[in-house]
Amino acid sequence: MRSRLLAVATATAVAALGLATPAHASHSWGNYHWARTANPFTLKLDNNVDSSWSSYLSTASSDWTASSVLNTTVVTGSFGSRSSCTPTTGHVEVCNGFYGGTGWLGIASISVTTGNHISAAYVKVNDTYFTQSTYNTPAYRRMVMCQEVGHTFGLDHQDTNQTNTNLGTCMDYTRNPAGPPSNEHPNSHDFTQLQTIYSHLDSFNTPTLAPALAGASRTSWGKRVSGAEGHGVTTYVRETGRDSYTVTRVIWAG
Ligand SMILES: [Zn+2]
Ligand SMILES: [Zn+2]
Repeated sequence: MRSRLLAVATATAVAALGLATPAHASHSWGNYHWARTANPFTLKLDNNVDSSWSSYLSTASSDWTASSVLNTTVVTGSFGSRSSCTPTTGHVEVCNGFYGGTGWLGIASISVTTGNHISAAYVKVNDTYFTQSTYNTPAYRRMVMCQEVGHTFGLDHQDTNQTNTNLGTCMDYTRNPAGPPSNEHPNSHDFTQLQTIYSHLDSFNTPTLAPALAGASRTSWGKRVSGAEGHGVTTYVRETGRDSYTVTRVIWAG
């Protein structure tokens, strides 16, 4: 148990170090990826958001579908609870809600099985902040939705400095998502990175696994393995069974 947590912490730390190199540094999130036998593969984004978010989910879906290795399709949410957003195997659940003064604008969490393969994921965006004037802008909503969905493919941030010049991608932290340049959509480097992450093929497919709850209640993110509580880039890992665990990335407000 402990050794695997430490191993994951090491992998995450290496990925984070890579971010310190500017320009075209690798920005995959560990080696996490969906298993599939052919490209492009299709991921289901489950729409559990209300009308204040549905257009942003549609935009993120079409933005990322420009990738040569994957397509996304928005489907009707597969469960009813926005607060738990419990992921269904083979799906990316996308939820919004008033999750409270948690400090985070959005989170992305993936369920990982043997071989760093993602089997399920969820995204939550926090209306407690998105109803405040600072964050309640189309640019902020576009960036956070795009970034959190991007994490569910295995992408990491390109840059985590909130006050430097925008790189023109939603995978870049900023307090000025509209720019210029705008950080509301992916850029070509994200698509190149996806090609790298998905350059090999697997012998099985995780996006088409039979729907079943990927795990029990996910009230806990588990142990913090990198980053600080409340600011910056923070990663948590929680074991959910033999050879399986969840990894949660947090984008904090402020
Ligand atoms: Zn693989
Ligand atoms: Zn992020």
